[in-house]
Amino acid sequence: ETSALLGPAQVRELAERLGVSPTKKLGQNFVIDPNTVRKIVRLADVRRGECVVEVGPGLGSLTLGLTEAGAEVTAVEIDHRLAAELPATVAALQPAVFADADRPRLRVVRSDALEVTAADFAGGAPTLLVANLPYNVSVPILMHLLELLRELRGGLVMVQAEVGHRIAAQPGSKEYGSPSAKAAWYGRWSIAGAVSRRIFWPVPGVDSVLVRYERRESPLGTEAERRLTFDIVGAAFAQRRKMLRQALQPVLGAFDRTVGIIADAGVNPEARAEQLAIDEFLAIARAAARLTD
Ligand code: SAM
Repeated sequence: ETSALLGPAQVRELAERLGVSPTKKLGQNFVIDPNTVRKIVRLADVRRGECVVEVGPGLGSLTLGLTEAGAEVTAVEIDHRLAAELPATVAALQPAVFADADRPRLRVVRSDALEVTAADFAGGAPTLLVANLPYNVSVPILMHLLELLRELRGGLVMVQAEVGHRIAAQPGSKEYGSPSAKAAWYGRWSIAGAVSRRIFWPVPGVDSVLVRYERRESPLGTEAERRLTFDIVGAAFAQRRKMLRQALQPVLGAFDRTVGIIADAGVNPEARAEQLAIDEFLAIARAAARLTD
């Protein structure tokens, strides 16, 4: 069934026919290797009939892997031309995707992924995120979707290696930062593999990795707690060299109050942001809320 996926010749031919020349600004590096697509679909653990959200389907390389696995895909693409052509590409190679006109297994949302809302997923709440994310905006897109799509049970994303290692970083490591702590609010992130830059056209100037996401069994805290915790995480890492008793004053208040809250949370006020796991940031948020109530 190799014909149902796009190889190097098909990607180039398709781009030429559509008059698409990939732009750096939109992070347009298209996958030309069916084996990589199959690997992503396998690692993502896509289930038949499952609702999947894909960001940036581009020419459809990964989309075809998802539909081939029986997923119901909502694909969010910012580029008008690519968004408009995707259904035709998929229909030509996998007509069964559109066999049921009332319930096509591919819906395309022509939008910036940073601006999608729940209404864009009327076809069904996605339970899985699978995407080869555009380089420059991968972290903001992840954060937006995690916040918006509460039904997501997990995902598999391809990102720039450096970004992937930052997302999956643990406290105490030098890559650990605000994205790592915030991502950990939602669940577990791990590096699932490295990807050669030769599987893309055009070949990008950076390496990529596959990052796997598994949601927590139950939410770490309430939505109000998440917001306050994220404010605290933001402030802590904005001055990551400083001790928390200093760095957190912009969100927690004067020195004595800030020290009191941090200590009440069972955290050392002289610790620095990079030492704290997300549940410790949450403990600080809860201590602050107790004081305000
Ligand atoms: N999924 C395709 C593949 O693997 O061959 C393309 C991946 S390419 C790295 C990134 C895609 O994201 C491009 O199609 C680009 O147009 C799209 N894109 C860039 N910024 C976007 C945004 N803010 N929202 C939605 N799509 C975006």
